[in-house]
Amino acid sequence: MNKSDFPPDSQATLTIDLKAIVENYQNCNHLAGGVECAAMVKADAYGMGIEQVAPTLFHKAGCKNFFVANLAEAIKLRSFTPDAIIYVLNGIFPNHIDYFIRHNIRPVLNDLDQIRLWAEIPSTARPPCAIHFDTGINRLGLSPKETKLFINDTSMRERLDISLIMSHLACSDDRTNPMNAQQLADFTTITRHFPGTPASLANSGGILLGPDYHFDMVRPGLLLFGGNPSNGVMPENIRAAFQITGKILQIRTLEPGQSVGYGATWTASKTCHIATINIGYADGYLQMFNNCGFAYADKTKLAIVGRVSMDMIAVDVTDIKIKTGGDVELLGAHITLEMASEVSTLSQYEILTGVRERYQRIYN
Ligand SMILES: *Cc1c(COP(=O)(O)O)cnc(C)c1O
Repeated sequence: MNKSDFPPDSQATLTIDLKAIVENYQNCNHLAGGVECAAMVKADAYGMGIEQVAPTLFHKAGCKNFFVANLAEAIKLRSFTPDAIIYVLNGIFPNHIDYFIRHNIRPVLNDLDQIRLWAEIPSTARPPCAIHFDTGINRLGLSPKETKLFINDTSMRERLDISLIMSHLACSDDRTNPMNAQQLADFTTITRHFPGTPASLANSGGILLGPDYHFDMVRPGLLLFGGNPSNGVMPENIRAAFQITGKILQIRTLEPGQSVGYGATWTASKTCHIATINIGYADGYLQMFNNCGFAYADKTKLAIVGRVSMDMIAVDVTDIKIKTGGDVELLGAHITLEMASEVSTLSQYEILTGVRERYQRIYN
């Protein structure tokens, strides 16, 4: 079956604005004072499609360094961007080494065993590597003890071709958290032992913490797609790079006392018009939006009423002029990730990467 076998509006739409992603990248670069800006494209480029997003960043924005979580993502990415530098955050296992070499992929090495394993490969065959130092998130990276051992192991260090040293912030979304300054201090100390080796600490939130956090390379993800990574104001010029649009399948007039949806969790208090939209939790629009989400149409913010169903939601359209077949924005420029996160208590990351396949995808 190919695309022309069904009409394009038979599904809800996910529109991805590649130009906005390029411009957000350029603004990240600017916010980071012009240091090297890598792109975080793990999880299918935060659900937006790595096959489209990564080549666009490479060719149109001049992004050369890409990070993914695992080797499978990296090998896929290699086929889309043959000339990019690709790092795998999850580290290496012995049976992965051949693949790293064959596809010219750089591992981020997370402990001394991985470092020894990588150092055993003849240097002529081996891509450069990154070393990840854990400065407090306690997730991946060399522990403080391993960090000391590695710093003092000059012969091991000389055997490796280290293209990047990095660490990751635990609380960059909260600029008032003292852990940021502590991680910065610890990472700065580590960098002094690696003069001349590029260093990287900041994700999107870290970029906004200021120049001390930028080092030689920043690694934004969320900012590229228009999310706000911090509890401060959204940086100027960063905008939503995607829109989720649903279609009205039916509109009903309800009288006071009538309810909407499974569980009858919402009841009309006056006569109102309720539109049923073709998006539900199977599309990634989760039940955390029950009776609290928002939609947007006809220049008006609208309330999601009742429970989110598998394939549908209900929106109160009493105050606007709209007909069956009309389009309603569920996420995008007007209903921002930040707003959606606030009402649902889902993180912006979960909302973004939760976007499912059922949408008709349009890349602009
Ligand atoms: C995901 C990730 C990033 C990007 O984080 P954002 O908050 O989306 O900018 C950067 N560095 C590492 C190690 C990550 O895992």
